[in-house]
Amino acid sequence: MEFTNEIYFDPTPKLKSSPVPILFLPFNNEKLRCNNCGNKYSATNLYRQKYCKQCLLTYIKSIADDNVYFDINIITNHTPCIEHKSTRNTNFLTRNIQEWCKNCSEISYFKNYYDHINTTSQYIFIEKDCKLCEKLIDKISFGFKIFSNCYLISSGRVKSTLFDKMIPILYLPWWDTSNKSRVCNHNLKFLTDCQKWCSYCFIIYVRCRYCLTTNIIFGITDQTQCKKCKRISNINIDITNISSGNHNIDEFLIFTRTNIDNYDKITSYMNNSSNPLNVYSFLEHELKNVNSKRMMEWIPYSQINILEEVAKGGFGTISKAIWLNKTPVAVKRFTNLKDISKYFLNEVIM
Ligand SMILES: [Zn+2]
Ligand SMILES: [Zn+2]
Ligand SMILES: [Zn+2]
Ligand SMILES: [Zn+2]
Ligand SMILES: [Zn+2]
Repeated sequence: MEFTNEIYFDPTPKLKSSPVPILFLPFNNEKLRCNNCGNKYSATNLYRQKYCKQCLLTYIKSIADDNVYFDINIITNHTPCIEHKSTRNTNFLTRNIQEWCKNCSEISYFKNYYDHINTTSQYIFIEKDCKLCEKLIDKISFGFKIFSNCYLISSGRVKSTLFDKMIPILYLPWWDTSNKSRVCNHNLKFLTDCQKWCSYCFIIYVRCRYCLTTNIIFGITDQTQCKKCKRISNINIDITNISSGNHNIDEFLIFTRTNIDNYDKITSYMNNSSNPLNVYSFLEHELKNVNSKRMMEWIPYSQINILEEVAKGGFGTISKAIWLNKTPVAVKRFTNLKDISKYFLNEVIM
């Protein structure tokens, strides 16, 4: 696969990449039951982030060290178990998952887990310091915040599988469970347990269950790489109604969905604020473009049944036809079109 000369750096320098996949976090935040074991998800005390206690326990048992693989606060509930009655109370707080008690521990919240539905609700909480860098921050925070020196956003380009151009990628240093495309607001379609995409604006989300990172790809490609652990994920999108096989036509069709002018904006995106989560307002406000454009779809000839010819001239023929056995369409067939040039496609735009 082709990558540009992106400089290597660790997007989450204070965290280690997990030796085993992290299966206790949901990928689809609308699901009530764990995708892995079928048990009901629990929710964190703050932000109601979903996680599976059963799978968390299995995960902890498989980890032999006390490295920090995710940014988590473990607290004790109001009724400590017999074992912890004298040692733990509601002030007990740890980040060490080895101290997890299946009887009396709760998760206050995950920091590197961004849930669009719940995390945006304005919670007020008091926090003395950032648990990762121990840097003193505002004593009172409004809403969910993470810190720019522990979570580094970056961007790059990857080759499109449809045409000879590089398309941009944003590398987010956290687990993003949003179900909607932040650019066009349509629901995302699930491809796998770690991938989803928007079939309207052609944005693909690929996550890494070892590092809890999220790649957002602006266009269609078949592979992407986790910035942290370098694992490569294959992406398998059905391009029957996306690709004609002709690069010029494909590029033209893609332009009806995404704004290519935004490509440089994405790859030059720099997070200048102290809160990396501002990247979402960049996605929502700066890249919004799709709804103003008329979208076009590629329809393979095999999906069309020609019924009858209604007109014939020097240019070719026009026929009544049926698309996918249900939708009536008109088919214009050109007799003398040697190649689909950009000139022809410009005529289509008009
Ligand atoms: Zn589970
Ligand atoms: Zn306990
Ligand atoms: Zn920090
Ligand atoms: Zn979209
Ligand atoms: Zn990774």
